[in-house]
Amino acid sequence: MKQTKLSVIVPVHNEEEGIRQFLKEQLLKELDRITKYDYELILVNDGSTDNTLSILQDFAQGNQQIKVITFSRNFGKEPALSAGLAYATGDAAITIDADGQQPPKLIPKFIKKWEDGAEIVTGVRDHYTKHGTIQKLGSKLFYKLLNLMGNKHTVPGSTDFRLMDRVVIDEFNQLSEHNRITRGLIDWLGFRQEYIEYTYGVRMAGKPSYNLKKLFQLAIDSFISMSTTPLVIFGYIGIFITIASFLLGVFVIINQYILGDPLRLYWNGAVQMSIFISFLIGLVLISQAVTALYISHIHAETQGRPLYIIDQKSSRNLK
Ligand code: UDP
Ligand code: MG
Repeated sequence: MKQTKLSVIVPVHNEEEGIRQFLKEQLLKELDRITKYDYELILVNDGSTDNTLSILQDFAQGNQQIKVITFSRNFGKEPALSAGLAYATGDAAITIDADGQQPPKLIPKFIKKWEDGAEIVTGVRDHYTKHGTIQKLGSKLFYKLLNLMGNKHTVPGSTDFRLMDRVVIDEFNQLSEHNRITRGLIDWLGFRQEYIEYTYGVRMAGKPSYNLKKLFQLAIDSFISMSTTPLVIFGYIGIFITIASFLLGVFVIINQYILGDPLRLYWNGAVQMSIFISFLIGLVLISQAVTALYISHIHAETQGRPLYIIDQKSSRNLK
């Protein structure tokens, strides 16, 4: 009988200082303890410019269970995770960071939830204390905005420490969009999702590759790839300005030219001109939003997402 297998995927970028210790003393130790399942370890070297690659190759030397995928340059963590998932052959995949901030000790907990029927198990960090104030505020704001924009499924604090069942991996691998945020896509896919709270640890060694600028970029990408609301917001502002200045214009005509300015406002030509210009700006914003709506449709088409995802396990007599 074929043994059930887990694929463990680790994206690695410039982690020469801590990766050896992380793999040897944490991850592999933990995986060897899980005797119930076979495992493969997929290390994705995301264009490291330090000694990381040769360390990973050393681990893979003479060990068929360890696979190394190496990128030609740095593509980012999201593509690294996608590559890992594309090469995963397991019945479930677990993604975990290489810096020890996501404790491998918790892997059995993820597996337990999976055995109990969850198809996605997501690690949720329980606090933000290890982050700077700006990151902390930014992260809160990020989830607030994401929620406001209609993405109601993303649980605040969700991380990429995650287990995915084979059905989810297969669906994920079908997705073809380029600007991908794994978290958002997984949430979009649906399926039975469970959460595990954990404390985000301290980096074992080295520096985080995500600085404020990259995080900001990531947030913008999330908004744009998961929602079209930003496109339309200015349309609403435009509608507001147009209506407000139209009413003001009508008011000026009635007050000044019909009633002879009983309110004694003495609004001169400059004021009237500004009201008129506001009106025009409103129109421009509205027409921009209309264009934006068309773009949002093109955007959705180019993402090429499937119209629906079928839960094969729960459907009946389809074939
Ligand atoms: N990483 C990657 N490519 C990148 C940046 C990061 O594969 O361009 C990896 C990194 O080696 C680590 C994980 O992604 O295993 C998380 O990165 P980091 O610790 O910098 O981010 P944070 O802990 O702030 O989420
Ligand atoms: Mg980290």
